[in-house]
Amino acid sequence: MSARILLVEDNPANLELMSYLLRAFGYDVVIARDGEEGVRLALDDPPDLILLDLQLPKLTGSEALVVLRAAPRTKALPIVAVTAFAMVGDRERFLSEGFTGYLAKPIEPTTFVPSVEAFLPPGRRSGRSGVPR
Ligand code: MN
Repeated sequence: MSARILLVEDNPANLELMSYLLRAFGYDVVIARDGEEGVRLALDDPPDLILLDLQLPKLTGSEALVVLRAAPRTKALPIVAVTAFAMVGDRERFLSEGFTGYLAKPIEPTTFVPSVEAFLPPGRRSGRSGVPR
């Protein structure tokens, strides 16, 4: 069974692109548009993976991460930062904050889903190989 992925993103275009790509590969996508909603949804029903934008209303991605890493239900989940600020050295900063990894914006449609799948256990990957054209 394919994974359920929680997308926390406030930019409508990014949200639409990421959710389209993930659904095209067969993933079950849950959406939150600010940090508080993302935390609430994650704690209510923990997904298999969280993609967390860093610049969000109400709670930033880093603030949301602190809450999620402190909660028993979400402390061990893969939580991946999605950020435009992918500069040299940031990878280490994200990992030291407790993120599982990060993905850089802008989203590259041909590599986005495989990049996300690298953070999923093999048994939760969809097994589909591409976006329908
Ligand atoms: Mn944002």
